Amino acid sequence: MKTLEKILQKVIEKNPGEKEFHQAVEEVLSSLEPVIKKHPEFLEEGIIDRLVEPERQIIFRVPWVDDNGEPQLNRGFRVQFNSAIGPYKGGLRFHPSVYLGIIKFLGFEQIFKNSLTGLPIGGGKGGSDFDPKGKSNGEIMKFCQSFMTELYRHIGKDIDIPAGDIGVGSREIGYLYGQYKRIKNSFDAGVLTGKGLTYGGSFARKEATGYGLIYFVKEMLEANNQTLKNKTIVISGSGNVAIYACEKAQQYDAKVVAMSDSKGYIYDKNGIKLDTIKQIKEVERKRISEYIKYHTEAKYHECQKDIWSIKCDIALPCATQNDIDINQAQVLIKNGVIAIGEGANMPCTNEAIKFFLENNILLAPAKAANAGGVATSALEMSQDSMRICWTFEEVDNKLHEIMKSIFKAADKAAKEYGMPGNYVAGANIAGFLKVANAMRAQGIV
Ligand code: GLU
Repeated sequence: MKTLEKILQKVIEKNPGEKEFHQAVEEVLSSLEPVIKKHPEFLEEGIIDRLVEPERQIIFRVPWVDDNGEPQLNRGFRVQFNSAIGPYKGGLRFHPSVYLGIIKFLGFEQIFKNSLTGLPIGGGKGGSDFDPKGKSNGEIMKFCQSFMTELYRHIGKDIDIPAGDIGVGSREIGYLYGQYKRIKNSFDAGVLTGKGLTYGGSFARKEATGYGLIYFVKEMLEANNQTLKNKTIVISGSGNVAIYACEKAQQYDAKVVAMSDSKGYIYDKNGIKLDTIKQIKEVERKRISEYIKYHTEAKYHECQKDIWSIKCDIALPCATQNDIDINQAQVLIKNGVIAIGEGANMPCTNEAIKFFLENNILLAPAKAANAGGVATSALEMSQDSMRICWTFEEVDNKLHEIMKSIFKAADKAAKEYGMPGNYVAGANIAGFLKVANAMRAQGIV
């Protein structure tokens, strides 16, 4: 007899060494038991077997020449995971830690996240083990051009639409788009999202993941008789997600006291001055330790993980996967945390998630809480197709409504399946049902 447990075992056997992918599959399957009770057909008809197997996995060579004239080599990936509800959609990550297991975990998460947005986008993800840190602008451009010279044949505005992720921002998207356009001799703006505003980008795309996270956390708090006002918040990371989560949290009168990068964290008891962070990270592309030069009362600490020992009401992990493990979860709870909002993808280990839920901590899961980025990417695709441009306010209002409806969907599914307040299970179930039903309707493909 087929069981979810057996499917997980098979995933582990068939994808050896891909521990982040195993973790992501385990996390989703662990929520689906009550769904299978009601709908055994999803298991019996092989829907879940197919859901955990990517439709297509592309691995390619990315050669380029550095500023010293030396040949360099990286590996490129694009995993086209699931197209049941729309063309593959998901970002590109450029980071030295990238290998197939990371791209598959991210692509798998993206299926459910994209489903939750309510928009017609399937799941995919890509990237490279290229490290943009310390590279010149020219090297970044050459790498992006080489990456696109292979990737272009696999993507298209109705096929697969990449965007940014860690290490890929508007600069990289610009170089990738330029090369795509040159190869195809066609202004297909809808082939990439996160583009600059002068060539088919959308207002509020840059802010969307961070803003969306706070909109979701706000809904979750209000449903539990809490507000953001005067709450002390710790945010890990200082990239796009972290910066705009901080901005929106401050607009709702919360106090953000700490942020980090991969080297360390800053603590500012007076509240983070976001203009300084933006200057350091978005303009100068320097280390967060620079912050204490401008704000002498703030403190810099070397160990990034220790950020979670700061007492706070709300923790927003917005850096990368497995940022909060069981040890950090225990410290956060001991210090009185009431809510966790996952801005990054899979920032809490499965053990940490379980521990938070057992202790009745409100947990906004990544698939739901950080879906604002990709939702706004879908809004960018719509604008590109219609050849129109919505204002910042129009896009931001749509984003806000989408985040409210994602919260409602997760909340409703959690209640319906007997786990009220468990937004982790609720988001997994709501995201799953739409995809599973679409797969069923399309037959064994
Ligand atoms: N990388 C983002 C995510 O994890 C955005 C993807 C997109 O906009 O396609 O959802």
